[in-house]
Amino acid sequence: MADELPSLDTESFRRQAHQVVDWMADYLARVGTLPVQPSLEPGAIRALVPSDAPEGPEPFERIVEDFERLIVPGLTHWGHPGFFAYFPANSSPPSILAEMLTATIGAQCMSWNTSPAATELEQVTMEWLRKMTGLPEAFTGVIQDTASTATLVALITARDQAVGRTGGQADGVSGLGHAPIRLPDLTVYASEEAHSSVAKGARMAGFSADRVRAIPADDAFAMRSEALAQAIAADRAAGLVPACVVATVGTTSSTGIDPVPDIADICEREKVWLHIDAAWGGSAAIVPEMRWIFAGVERADSVVFNPHKWMLVNFDCTAFFVRDTDALLRSFATSPVFLKAAYDDRVVNFRDWGIQLGRRFRALKLWFVIRTYGVQGLQAMIREHIRLGALLAGWVQEDPEFELMAPSPLALVVFRYVGREGGKTGGRDETPALEIDALNERLLAALHATGKIMLTQTRLKGKYAIRLALGHLTTTEDDVRKAWQLIKEAARKLVPGSPDPRIP
Ligand SMILES: *Cc1c(COP(=O)(O)O)cnc(C)c1O
Repeated sequence: MADELPSLDTESFRRQAHQVVDWMADYLARVGTLPVQPSLEPGAIRALVPSDAPEGPEPFERIVEDFERLIVPGLTHWGHPGFFAYFPANSSPPSILAEMLTATIGAQCMSWNTSPAATELEQVTMEWLRKMTGLPEAFTGVIQDTASTATLVALITARDQAVGRTGGQADGVSGLGHAPIRLPDLTVYASEEAHSSVAKGARMAGFSADRVRAIPADDAFAMRSEALAQAIAADRAAGLVPACVVATVGTTSSTGIDPVPDIADICEREKVWLHIDAAWGGSAAIVPEMRWIFAGVERADSVVFNPHKWMLVNFDCTAFFVRDTDALLRSFATSPVFLKAAYDDRVVNFRDWGIQLGRRFRALKLWFVIRTYGVQGLQAMIREHIRLGALLAGWVQEDPEFELMAPSPLALVVFRYVGREGGKTGGRDETPALEIDALNERLLAALHATGKIMLTQTRLKGKYAIRLALGHLTTTEDDVRKAWQLIKEAARKLVPGSPDPRIP
C-alpha cells in the first residue's frame, strides 16, 4: 500500500490549488444568487455521503465535484448579502488568503520555539489591537479560539485568585491561619442579558450553578449596577465569597451595554475580578466616536472581543487581554520536561496562557487584515454598519405596524411586527401579547421560506423579537433596503388587507 500513497506532486498541487482558488473567487461573486440557507430535513446530507471511508484513493476532481454537488447545497451562507442572522461571521479576501498560508505552513504555535515568528507576530498584533481599542498598556493580549474559551479562562483565573487571596485552596483545604474557602462558597455575577457562555464557563470552572447570579437589566438591557451591589452585599452577609463579575459590552440579544464605570467601582471596592465580555461589540471601540462603549473597561482585570465577529477576520480569532498575567500563568502554566527550552525565561510560551496546548497561527490573518484595510479602513467599515443600523432602526420607528424593541447603537436592529390593529396609532395594547409573538414567529418563517434572507429571534423582557445583525464587508445600503422591503411584504401577507408597505 505504501507505494500507492501519493507523495507531494508539486505540479498537481499547484493545478488543484488554482482550481480551488478559481472556485473561491466565483463563490464570493455569486453567493448572493444562492438560497441563503438550505431547506433540508435533518439527515439529508448524511444520507448522500457513504457511511464508510473509501478504501483506496479517490481523484481530486471527484472530491471537488462531490463538494459542489453534495455539500454546497447543504450550506448556510454566512457571507450572503441576505444573511442578517445571529451575528456577523467575518471573512475577507486577505483573511482567507492568510488562512491558506497558515494551513500550508501547518505550524504549531504552542511555544515560542515551535514557531518563533508566530508567537512574536501574535504579540505585535495584540499590541496593535490594544492600542486600536484604547486599552491601557497594563493589558497584555493573547489570541484564544473563542470568546467562550476566553471567558472560561477569566473565570478560572478569578476563581484561583479568590481562593488564593483568602488563603484557601480550590479543593476546600484551609490555608495557613485562614478560614477555608470552599469552591461552593464562591459567587459569580452577570446580567440577565449576558451570553450563555458565562453560565457555561462558570459551570465548567466549578462554580455551583446556584452561586451564579443573574443581575436584572434595565429598559436598555444593561445591568442595573445597584442591583449588582445589593447582590454582592447579600452574598457577603451570607458568608459567601464574590469571585467574578462579568460585564457585557454589546449583548448578543440587543447590544445592551452594561454601565462598566459603576461596575468597576463596585469591583474595586469589593476586590472582585472584573471580566468584560465585548465579544461582538468590542470591535466598534476602534472607531473614535464609538470609544465611549469602552468607558471603564480600562479598569477591568480582563477583556475579550472577537475580531472574528466584526473585524473581517475569519473564525476563529478571539482577542483576550489580561492585566495580571502572573495570575493567569499561575492558573494555566505547566512545564513538562518534553516542552522545556533553555530560553524559556526570555520568551512567551502562549501554551501557558489558556487551555489548549496546540495552537493555530491565528495572528497571520489578523496581520493581513489590519495591513490590507488599515485602521482607517476598518473604522470606516464599522462606521458604515452603524449608519446602516441606525437607518433601518429609523425606518422601523417610522412604521406604525412595527415596533423597535431596543436601542441599536451597534448595528443590530431588534424589532417586531405589531400589525395593523396593534399599530402604534391604533392601540398596540389591545392586541394580546401571545398573538403578537405568534405573528412574529410566522413572519420569520415566511421570510426564511423566500430563501433570500435569514434573521434570528430572541426574547426581550419576555417578548418575542426579530434581530437583524449587520457586519459583513460587502453589506450595502441597498441590501438593507431590500431586506426591509421583504420584511414589510411578508408581514403584509400574514395579515390580509394590510396597506401596501411604503418603501423608504
Ligand atoms: C458571540 C458572543 C459570545 C460567544 O462567542 P464565541 O467566540 O462564539 O464563543 C460571547 N459573548 C457575546 C456577548 C457574544 O455576542
